[in-house]
Amino acid sequence: MTERVVRSPFDGREAGRIAVPSAAEVEVAVARAAKVFETTKKLPTYRRAAILRSVSGALLAKKEALARTIALEAGKPLKAARAEVERASGTFAAAAAAVETASGAHFPLDMNPASLGKWGILRRVPLGPVCAITPFNFPLNLTSHKVAPAIGVGAPVVQKPASQTPLSAMALREIVLSAGWPEEAYAVLGVSGAAGETLVTDPRLPVVSFTGSAGVGWRLREIAPRKRVGLELGGNAGLIVHEDADLADAAARAASGGFVYAGQSCISVQRILVHRPVFDRFEGELLAATARMKTGDPLDESIDVGPMITEAEAIRAETWVKEAVAAGARLLAGGTRQGAVLQPTVLSRTSPSMKVECDEVFAPVVTLAPYDSFDEALARVNDSRYGLQAGVFTRDLGRIEKAFETLEVGGIIVNDAPTWRADRMPYGGVKDSGVGREGPLYAMEEFTEPRLLVLRAP
Ligand code: NAP
Repeated sequence: MTERVVRSPFDGREAGRIAVPSAAEVEVAVARAAKVFETTKKLPTYRRAAILRSVSGALLAKKEALARTIALEAGKPLKAARAEVERASGTFAAAAAAVETASGAHFPLDMNPASLGKWGILRRVPLGPVCAITPFNFPLNLTSHKVAPAIGVGAPVVQKPASQTPLSAMALREIVLSAGWPEEAYAVLGVSGAAGETLVTDPRLPVVSFTGSAGVGWRLREIAPRKRVGLELGGNAGLIVHEDADLADAAARAASGGFVYAGQSCISVQRILVHRPVFDRFEGELLAATARMKTGDPLDESIDVGPMITEAEAIRAETWVKEAVAAGARLLAGGTRQGAVLQPTVLSRTSPSMKVECDEVFAPVVTLAPYDSFDEALARVNDSRYGLQAGVFTRDLGRIEKAFETLEVGGIIVNDAPTWRADRMPYGGVKDSGVGREGPLYAMEEFTEPRLLVLRAP
């Protein structure tokens, strides 16, 4: 096993080290996971729930150390890193609650004379060890969204974390093992993306739970057609602000949703659509909220917007902004870059063919455009290959109902930015944003299959 240094995207300082396993060591980890499944699938409910509750508590107890690890390896500002640790604790608590309240189904089957005396019992059984592939942007909580439900159903996990951010997953593994989960039942393998494909196609890992970009995700589904493959992918979230909204509140939430963690969230605000009668006022509020965002060192307590994950990514986003401006967009704020830090950027007069609108920008960049009718705004949000979440600011129940009926997304957030998630809710997308739902209860469904027992009274 060799070692690799993980560095801060902000200043290149060492964040920690990760072991890089050889192909033979990967093989051993998978074989051990397959073997220990025979034990974990039989763990009683109270044991699984106790492990989950213990992990939830330990995460909170280690909040400061874990937040620092996240801030160092992912460049996430400390404030947001602390919030991520709290959320991860909540994810484990939600999984414990789901385990404790899970129930099966009992139903009559005597629907015709030939079936007299028959009835059925349905229970869910784990499919097997889970191959978890996770992205860099929430290295602790998105790992928790795979590990907690896997423990919940009694399934081992073999995880391939993002190459930039393996340290949070390593720290979580230590906590999970201290809580009593068998050592062989959770492996964190610091292999590269391409080596991850070996795990995806390995028949001993029948479930693949992937969070990351659309290009990689859909390819993995193609190479593993017979497996249960859940995909949590990207987006270019739309936010509608209608004239009856509280504009200052909407602008503050839009700025936070677009720029916090440098826009590197799958549900970051990207396309803001504003009812024309209030467009100018909203623009003023948004620019004021944008100017209040502090950028810089993620380890500085006061910082809202840290670096992007690499300087190359910041250059890519800066280039998209420049291309938009060259094609006629107006730069209202930001657009400048120092190293990996891109200033919060607001563009207007963009068009749907520009990358900053039609692709996932995954950077602190938002576009701002007026609309005349609510129907037009809904159509523009839907004019996307993605469909993860959308936000709608309005106080009108009729419009809320229409948005709920019309928007092609996994979730609609009313009177807040789309950049909002409670970890217990069903979360996931349609179109290129993925397939399947996370949230411990829903992930537990994805990691299991129904098994039916039919009984006949003798
Ligand atoms: P990414 O480049 O797709 O990487 C995600 C994971 O896949 C990483 O662990 C990566 O490993 C691995 N990977 C890459 N190529 C692979 C391959 N051929 N086989 C197996 N694994 C492979 O995404 P990212 O840049 O880390 O994360 C950003 C993306 O994730 C954005 O699109 C964002 O919207 C999406 N995301 C979605 C959600 C959601 O819940 N819907 C949440 C967060 C993020 P390496 O790091 O080693 O390349």
